[in-house]
Amino acid sequence: MKIRFLGTAAFEGIPSLFCRCDLCVKARELGGKEIRSRTSAMLDDDLKIDFPPDTYMHMIRDGLDLELIKDLIFTHSHSDHLYAEDLVARLPGYAQSMDHPIQIHANDAVLLRIKQTLDFNGGVQGKFVLNRVKPFERMELQTAVVVPLPASHDPLETCLLYYIEKGGKTILYGHDSGWFPEETWAWLQDKKLDLAVLECTVGRSNHRTSHMNIDAVLETKQRFEEYDMLKPGANIVVTHFSHNAQLSHTDLTEIFTPQGIQVAYDGMILELP
Ligand SMILES: [Zn+2]
Ligand SMILES: [Zn+2]
Ligand SMILES: [Zn+2]
Repeated sequence: MKIRFLGTAAFEGIPSLFCRCDLCVKARELGGKEIRSRTSAMLDDDLKIDFPPDTYMHMIRDGLDLELIKDLIFTHSHSDHLYAEDLVARLPGYAQSMDHPIQIHANDAVLLRIKQTLDFNGGVQGKFVLNRVKPFERMELQTAVVVPLPASHDPLETCLLYYIEKGGKTILYGHDSGWFPEETWAWLQDKKLDLAVLECTVGRSNHRTSHMNIDAVLETKQRFEEYDMLKPGANIVVTHFSHNAQLSHTDLTEIFTPQGIQVAYDGMILELP
């Protein structure tokens, strides 16, 4: 099982459009790992999580063949995770795409946005199948076994984390989350993880209800340990950073490496042996 971190920033990206904050200025100067696009991850080459506005750039940068995607799952409808207009590019008349439909799995808010956008362009035309997911309902997809779990991110929609079993490995894709709701902890507590992906959107700020700060990430790791949820050699990765936190990749690495937590960067590939 291989996971590729396509984008590792929150909504604004780093550097952000229009921004002259210290971090954005520095990111423009240094480039490399300081440049972060909007979040998404690819598991092997056939299961994608979220479809942000930077997907076109991800395809070019990483040489992706998006036609290998069989399942596309969504965490929630915020625009750094869902850019429905680019799904139109798979419809007849735009792309010479293959015949198989891509199975989309998402909450109501995401499906409605996608359906309205595709309907405006002639409908799904066999290129997508829209499947509504429900928290705690186990799904056997073509590419993985997946269980959506409630996040505490945006009270206006059912934002989801995903527990994923793929290629003999177990992964918790945990953002956008805030501190996990107790019902999510209750479901997770007897699971054993090879990889947990957490968000650290707001850095040192004293805020953890809709996004996690550094302390919330460290406490989440502690809770994993208390519940004995980490397999030997398990990886914990942080991602989804905001420029407003004013932490460079070097700063984040200095904070998290001593804690046994990896800091994701755009294009990072993690092989779970
Ligand atoms: Zn986000
Ligand atoms: Zn900035
Ligand atoms: Zn969000």
